[in-house]
Amino acid sequence: MSTQNSTRRFLRALVVAVRNGAQSFADYYEREHDPLTRDGLTHVFNRPTFDRRIKKLDTYSLILLDIDDFKSINDTYGHAVGDQVLRAVAGALRLTSGDRVFRIGGEEFAVVLVNCSSNDASKVAERLVRRVREEVEIDGRPVTVSAGVAWAGRPGEHERVYRMADRALYHAKLSGKDRVSRYEMTRVAA
Ligand code: GH3
Ligand code: MG
Ligand code: MG
Repeated sequence: MSTQNSTRRFLRALVVAVRNGAQSFADYYEREHDPLTRDGLTHVFNRPTFDRRIKKLDTYSLILLDIDDFKSINDTYGHAVGDQVLRAVAGALRLTSGDRVFRIGGEEFAVVLVNCSSNDASKVAERLVRRVREEVEIDGRPVTVSAGVAWAGRPGEHERVYRMADRALYHAKLSGKDRVSRYEMTRVAA
């Protein structure tokens, strides 16, 4: 590859990283090149990276996603197949949200959208839920996820926003799974 091409690729990746919340060259480097930031099973970003990144952000929307009935997938097909499902779900989420995807727990993922309203984030969440349903299946049956959406508009709201998204996710599960719930809607509905 010519020097000019690799410089162009580097600059393009840097622009994408900054757009996604990278605030410095160190941030960019960590994002692109440090294997310790990745989850070993799914290769999306891991929980420590999520915790560190989120603290640097002011205005963003948070989508929490949890695989529906995952325990029964493990129980029926075994842990190794469960791992394959985890990888497939992570892959489907990445198809829509690229490097904004984090694995934050066993079968739980987060998508962080910088400078994105909760309205727009809900639309992204709808796409993610649909994509998993369309892309991932086991034994001819679709694997599904539920999603909760919340919005942070001020610095230092991280824990509150996480709790709100988690409540919305809980609401999506209670309402029948394979769907999105937004925190405001949860409040109105509660
Ligand atoms: P719900 O629809 O309410 O989310 O139900 P669920 O069955 O998905 O939720 P539950 O929390 O009961 O089960 C999650 C399971 O995920 C339990 C745990 O053994 C499994 N799990 C966690 N981490 C991993 C992993 O890395 N690989 C595999 N195969 N299973 C895992
Ligand atoms: Mg869970
Ligand atoms: Mg689950």
